Amino acid sequence: MPEILKKLAELIGFLPGIGEKTAVKLAFFLLKSNPWYVKKLAETLAVLQDTVHECATCGSLTDKHHAECEICRNPLRKTETLCVVEDYLDLVSIERLGVHLGRYHVLGGVISPISGKSPSDLRFKELFGRVRDENVTELILALNPNIEGEATALYIDEYLPVKGIKISRLSKGLPNAGFIEYADEITLLSAFRGRK
Ligand SMILES: [Zn+2]
Repeated sequence: MPEILKKLAELIGFLPGIGEKTAVKLAFFLLKSNPWYVKKLAETLAVLQDTVHECATCGSLTDKHHAECEICRNPLRKTETLCVVEDYLDLVSIERLGVHLGRYHVLGGVISPISGKSPSDLRFKELFGRVRDENVTELILALNPNIEGEATALYIDEYLPVKGIKISRLSKGLPNAGFIEYADEITLLSAFRGRK
């Protein structure tokens, strides 16, 4: 195999869910693709990490020339309802349902002694600040129903600086103990609607 093809297959092989055979197949696909497409792909990859950054308010992702993400900049999104998620992909899954009219708060992970994530590594301080300052009346904890998700929900419940806020969690119909990112839309929608 030509060196460059081998190298490309090796790099593609680092992507999640890609085995060695698929990596070689994809490398060959790119070799045979329209040169315009390959050039665009390379250009986009080259600037990807430098043009995206975290939203200053909610921790979601946004273009570098905006301090805040699209949702935080949208005056029609209700500030009283905050949906708390583990990461950006969970936000995307819930946003795709089109039922949450409020805003989000991305924690950047969940409390997990195994992977070494403690409360100080997560965006709790920012969350509690928003609850205090933005007139939040409902928190929807869209956290996976596993041990880490439970611990994170308990932490929020205990340290929330304002009392009397409605806190709900997604109903436990999610398959495989959670993984909001992988749940199909109907399951996620019923978990969201059935929150309590
Ligand atoms: Zn935002």
